[in-house]
Amino acid sequence: MRIIIVLAICLLVVLGAVAFCIFFDEAVMVRKNTIYRVGSAEKLVALTFDDGPSPVWTPKILDELNSAGVKATFFMLGEHVAKYPEVARRVVKEGHDIGNHTYDHHVLIYYTMEELENEINYADNVIKRVTGVTTRYFRPPKAWLTPDEKIKVNQMGYKIILWSLNSKDWVGFDDKYIVNYILRNIRPGDILLFHDSGGAFSSEGGKRKQTVKSIGKLVEKLKEKGYKFVTITQLLEGVK
Ligand SMILES: [Zn+2]
Repeated sequence: MRIIIVLAICLLVVLGAVAFCIFFDEAVMVRKNTIYRVGSAEKLVALTFDDGPSPVWTPKILDELNSAGVKATFFMLGEHVAKYPEVARRVVKEGHDIGNHTYDHHVLIYYTMEELENEINYADNVIKRVTGVTTRYFRPPKAWLTPDEKIKVNQMGYKIILWSLNSKDWVGFDDKYIVNYILRNIRPGDILLFHDSGGAFSSEGGKRKQTVKSIGKLVEKLKEKGYKFVTITQLLEGVK
């Protein structure tokens, strides 16, 4: 009997942990001293895509953005930029913003300040060499940075950009769920998080079909509500 109770408790703990990861956005705990949305009177919204570029999903996402007529921001991994330079260059050529999402997506809270600086600079160098763009926005993997690391990143000249609405597209929710979730919660000045690469346990691979399918519908519905899609640069500058 006792073993059954222990097993039941273990199961509940595991289910609780899974539900926590799926439905709770841990970024809300580490938003202090970051930019995760702007208080905008205008109905501006910024789409952001993390972990790319991907040779499979990024081109499809770019096609969707093109046909919807909107610009977005891509927080790229240096490693993927080095691997898929043509895709990274296409993102820039089509007028989207690029941000720095580290070189290889390690969580940074255990890094020394020197390691943190090297990681960000290394990713920036690769992105600059491939695309010609010097990155000014930084998004830490999983959103995690210590308070001291935030100060350091700012001192390096970066703005730390998180998000206010998480599509949780890596979980496998379908496009209908994702679009409805965003429509229910959207506010002017929001930054939306999507991914153009990565699975539940990796920064590469993964299925982004639902992400691709969400874009057209989301843009159409939000435009009907009077929203304008902007890059992070435009959002911070307050596009008129
Ligand atoms: Zn990421």
